Amino acid sequence: MTKQVPEYSGDPATEASDAPSDEFSDAFWRTKNLTEMTTQEWESLCDGCGLCCLHKLEDADTGAVSFTNVACRLLDIASCQCKNYTIRKKLVPDCVILTPDQVPDFHWLPKTCGYRLVSEGKDLKPWHPLISGSKASVHEAGISVQGRAISERDAGDLEDHIIDWPEA
Ligand code: SF4
Ligand code: SF4
Repeated sequence: MTKQVPEYSGDPATEASDAPSDEFSDAFWRTKNLTEMTTQEWESLCDGCGLCCLHKLEDADTGAVSFTNVACRLLDIASCQCKNYTIRKKLVPDCVILTPDQVPDFHWLPKTCGYRLVSEGKDLKPWHPLISGSKASVHEAGISVQGRAISERDAGDLEDHIIDWPEA
């Protein structure tokens, strides 16, 4: 039996050895913890992948969380951006706005998520815009939902849309 996990958004990515070292040695995500970051720094940790805007299902017995490829109705599935970020909570009450103290509890965040990586003491990935300098790199690296998600308006039963690629 499964129940739907609330949608989640970080206020808008594997091992430390993947990321460049010297150029970013003093970078804020390496030198500050999440509670010390400015709002701008916090926001910039989001890589724009859109993965947290996919609906997820939680097994009521085991607590295991499965991703689906079904996107929140407010997600632009082409750009992977929220169509109305400023008032998203009003438009989608289930959208949970992530704050630093909540990060460890959001175990369903994808492993690539910048917030999850930093909260686990890991480095950002080479394709993260803060490293690459380009917002397109998350899409070019095949990390984002671009081209792989469908809108909840068209999806039907979520259980028919369970996927494993966000955790691949
Ligand atoms: S999963 Fe992706 S879009 Fe969501 S908060 Fe993390 S980095 Fe941003
Ligand atoms: S309201 Fe926006 S940020 Fe929240 S889950 Fe939907 S698309 Fe993502």
